[in-house]
Amino acid sequence: MPQRYYPVIGMEVHAQLQTASKMFCGCSADYWEAPPNTHVCPVCLGMPGVLPVINAHAVEQTVRTGLALNCRIARFSVFARKNYHYPDLPKGYQISQYELPLCRDGWLTIVGDDGQPKRIGIRRAHLEEDTGKSLHVDGHSLIDLNRAGVPLLEIVTEADMASAEEAYRYLVKLRTILRTLGVNSGDMEKGAMRCEVNLSLRTAEQAARGEYGVKVEIKNLNSFKAVRDSIAYEIARQTAVLEAGGRVEQVTMGWDENRRRTVLQRTKESSEDYRYFPEPDLPPLELSPEWIQRVAATLPELPDARAARFTADYGLTPRDAGILTAERAVADWFEQAVQAYGGPPREVANWITGPLFAILRGRAEARGEGDEEDQAERTEGGDIASLPIGPADLAALIKLVDAGVVNRNTGKRVLEEMVATGRPAAAIVEAQGLAQVSDESGLAQVVDAVLAANPGEVAKYRAGKTSVLGWFMGQVMRETRGKANPDVVRRLLSQRLDG
Ligand code: ZN
Ligand code: MN
Repeated sequence: MPQRYYPVIGMEVHAQLQTASKMFCGCSADYWEAPPNTHVCPVCLGMPGVLPVINAHAVEQTVRTGLALNCRIARFSVFARKNYHYPDLPKGYQISQYELPLCRDGWLTIVGDDGQPKRIGIRRAHLEEDTGKSLHVDGHSLIDLNRAGVPLLEIVTEADMASAEEAYRYLVKLRTILRTLGVNSGDMEKGAMRCEVNLSLRTAEQAARGEYGVKVEIKNLNSFKAVRDSIAYEIARQTAVLEAGGRVEQVTMGWDENRRRTVLQRTKESSEDYRYFPEPDLPPLELSPEWIQRVAATLPELPDARAARFTADYGLTPRDAGILTAERAVADWFEQAVQAYGGPPREVANWITGPLFAILRGRAEARGEGDEEDQAERTEGGDIASLPIGPADLAALIKLVDAGVVNRNTGKRVLEEMVATGRPAAAIVEAQGLAQVSDESGLAQVVDAVLAANPGEVAKYRAGKTSVLGWFMGQVMRETRGKANPDVVRRLLSQRLDG
C-alpha cells in the first residue's frame, strides 16, 4: 500500500492598511492609477539624511486587527531594518518588525475539512512598509515608487491548515475580518492583499514524532484561486517526488497561471541573509494599556459573533448565518430589511440568499465577471450596495407576498423588475397588473377549462398518478400569466379531481 502524506500548510498575508498617508512620510497612500512617481517625497524615495515618522493611524489599525485576531498586543515593540537589494526598494532596506512584533499568538476560526470549527493560529502580525513596483516595457525596466512606503500589515499563521480548501477558507475569513474592521480593501486584483504559502508533506509516523517534512514556499499569489490551485499542484508534485523515493528540495516557487504549475524561483534565503537589526532612526513603540483599551472599545461586531447572534436572535441556520455575515454590507442590509419587515427574519434571509443573490450573480455575469476565476474572489452578495433598491424595498415586497397581493413566483419577477428599474414593488405590481387573482369564481372558470381540455391527464390522475396535479397547477398558472393564488388553485383542482 502506498504511503500516505499529510500536508502541513502555513500562510503569510501582506495587507495594505487603509490610511490617508504612507507609513513613514506624509505622501498620500491612495496611489491607485496615479501617474508614476507622483506620490513620492525624499523620505519614501530613500534620500540620504531623511528621517521616518511613524504613522499613528497605521499603528492603531494594526492593533485593532491584532485584537480582532485574538492576539496579544505588545506594549513594547521594535521596528527593524530588513536589508536586501532590489530595484523597487530605494533605501536598500525595508523597515519592518522582527523579534518584537506588535501582535502575536492569536487565532481565527474557519470551518475545517471535517465540517467542524477549526482554529488557525496567528503566530504574529507586524507592521512594515510596502515596496515600489518595477515595470518592464520594450526591453527597458521602469520603476514607480508611488507604492513605496505604503503601510503594510504582515499576518503570519501557524502551520495549521491541512488542505488547499482550508487555506482558501482561511483567506476568505481573514479578508472578511479585515474588511469589517475597515483596515484593508481586500482587493487582491489591485494588490491590496497578497499571499504566500509554505507547505510540506509528512507521513503519519513523522507527525506522531512531531517531525515535519521539507518546507517549500510559494510566493506572489495574487488571487484566492491561485492560492488554492498552487497548493493542490504542490501537494501532487511533492507526493510524486516522495513516492518515487526522491527528496523534496527546500526552495521558493512561483505560480505560473498560464501553465498552471509552480515554477522554481530561487533556493531559500535564511533570515541571516537579511541582517536584521533594530531601526536606529525610530524609537521603540510603547503603547499604554489605556490606549490599547480605548482601541479595543472601537472594535465593531466581528463576523463570528454576528453569525452567532443571527442564529440566536433571528433563528437562522448556522449555514445561512455564515452566508449573510461573510460580507459586512450584506449583514447590514439583512438587518435593515428585518427591521423594516417586522415578520419572521428567516423569510428575509430566504429572499436574500435565494432570489436576490441570483439576481446579483446575473448582474456580475452581465458585467463579464461571471467566470469561475472571478467567482472565486467574490463573496456572495458582496456588491449588494450597488443595487438601486434598499432593504426597505425588499421588506415592502415580502409584505405584498404575505398579504397575498402577489404570489411568491410573481414576487421574484417583481424583484427582478425592481432591481432593473429601481422602482418600488407596489408601483410595478400596479403598472403591470400583476396582482394575484384569488377570486374563486374567476379561477374556477380557468380550472374547469383546463380540466375539460385535458381529459387524458384527468384520467391518469384518477388512475392514481397524483403527480399530474403539479402539471395542472402549471397550466392554470400559464393561463393566468402566473397571477393565480396557488392555494386557491390547488384547492379548486383537488375538489374537482378528488370529488
Ligand atoms: Zn513620501
Ligand atoms: Mn513582509
